[in-house]
Amino acid sequence: MSQPKDRPFDRAGAPGGFAPEAGDMSAEDFRRFGHEVVDWIADYFSHPERFPVLAQVEPGGLRSQLPQSPPERGEPMSEILEDFERLVVPAVTHWNHPSFFAYFATTASAPGVLGEMLAAAFDAKAMLWRTSPASTELEEVALDWLRQLMGLPEEFGGIIYDTASVATMHAVAAAREALNLRVREEGMSGRADLPLLRLYASEQSHSSVEKSLIALGLGQRSLCKVPADSEFRMDAEALKSLIEKDRAGGALPFCVVATVGTTSTTSIDPVPAIADVCERENLWLHVDAAYAGSAAVVPEMRHILAGCERADSLVTNPHKWLFTPFDLSALYSRRLEVLRRAFTLTPEYLRTPEQETVRNGSDYGVQLGRRFRALKLWMILRYFGHEGLAARIREHCRLARDFAAWVEAANGWELLAPVPFSVVCFRARPAVEGENDEERAARLDALNERLMSAVNATGEAFLSHTKLGGVFTLRLAVGNIRTDETHVRRAWELLNEKLTEVSGRR
Ligand code: PLP
Repeated sequence: MSQPKDRPFDRAGAPGGFAPEAGDMSAEDFRRFGHEVVDWIADYFSHPERFPVLAQVEPGGLRSQLPQSPPERGEPMSEILEDFERLVVPAVTHWNHPSFFAYFATTASAPGVLGEMLAAAFDAKAMLWRTSPASTELEEVALDWLRQLMGLPEEFGGIIYDTASVATMHAVAAAREALNLRVREEGMSGRADLPLLRLYASEQSHSSVEKSLIALGLGQRSLCKVPADSEFRMDAEALKSLIEKDRAGGALPFCVVATVGTTSTTSIDPVPAIADVCERENLWLHVDAAYAGSAAVVPEMRHILAGCERADSLVTNPHKWLFTPFDLSALYSRRLEVLRRAFTLTPEYLRTPEQETVRNGSDYGVQLGRRFRALKLWMILRYFGHEGLAARIREHCRLARDFAAWVEAANGWELLAPVPFSVVCFRARPAVEGENDEERAARLDALNERLMSAVNATGEAFLSHTKLGGVFTLRLAVGNIRTDETHVRRAWELLNEKLTEVSGRR
């Protein structure tokens, strides 16, 4: 692939930008290199197609080109930037590329990048209100705006974490705290008085749910995987009987995690029915809307969060589908005080006179220092506005529906799941030979795997896969702010071209 350079970091003349004898880079140098970096980023955003989406490098390729020991004396910034471009960039997989269709496609939007730059300059550790009042208060404001945009109830307070995995772990910790088993004080090990605690999530739920149980010392044994129906949604009847069975066996059910927008297919669990079960059984209901929560910002899609107003907690990731640079995950809860009870711990050196009247972020989790993440979210919400955000998400869903329609209409291709949002699960299904069904299924799986690798090796588009009912499934996820119809069409063309190529091979 040709790689025309717009404004490369290599320049004629002597190297510049050495560290001064003492202190930081001079303001003059910072201004000069800052301008160069911003120019580079502006070009990067304008012409992402000059880079292969998936890094076309071998493991160890970058390491082998870098010195094994650090430099004894400072090196000029001009050379560092040149090496960044020459060595580092080729080993980058470009998540911010409009033809990134793997996993969940995401965006670091320009206003978000500006917000990150400013937050980096402040370098706030917002553990206490006084250590960065702006972080705390902007977090409250931005999260409340987002809550309104998603149509969640006013009682839902929010707190920002880095990722949904960490947000869910904190929600599960709060669910356990709500049992009043004195786990905070006494832990769980060596306690004969504790029954087996059980958490229920569908077999399609994200692995972060299971990891939460591992991290919290509850163990994988605490997870009950509830079967999903033919459209990959949790079976609420099965949930009921599994809870009954556990109770009869002496276990203590304490939490259900429902998912709105599962990772493989973006299916939506029946949250209203699950909320009924939770209310009857007195269980904490946590909703994982890490990906799809953003879709509720689109007025006509708000119904996807039906029933979530009854949840105890809900996580959504603006860093997935709300154009926010990684990382920023928002946890909402109507019971933030339970979460606080689980984690608050104030050593003398962190006591402040105002602590009874303000929110101190470190009370709500294991982390002490917290990044000023709210700044970028606040800037993004203001810059795009409700209409702008909704229009972009709506368009992503349209592009996915169009792609799904092409798959459905084409011979030798099939859809493998409904398309409620912006992800399409599909595969090539040409006629394959084989002794029996099993052999033919294995050949189709292998063919689709070769097809995905062939498309990804072009560097023009990047797709990932999952398995549905044991079947190798291709996923095309639309979610980057710069993705338009030409990118989606090109992905479809590439799939068709490469199918012809790989069909002949074994
Ligand atoms: N929940 C769901 C449904 C996801 O799809 C993902 C990631 O794709 C996560 C949670 C974890 O997200 P994070 O990377 O923010 O921890």
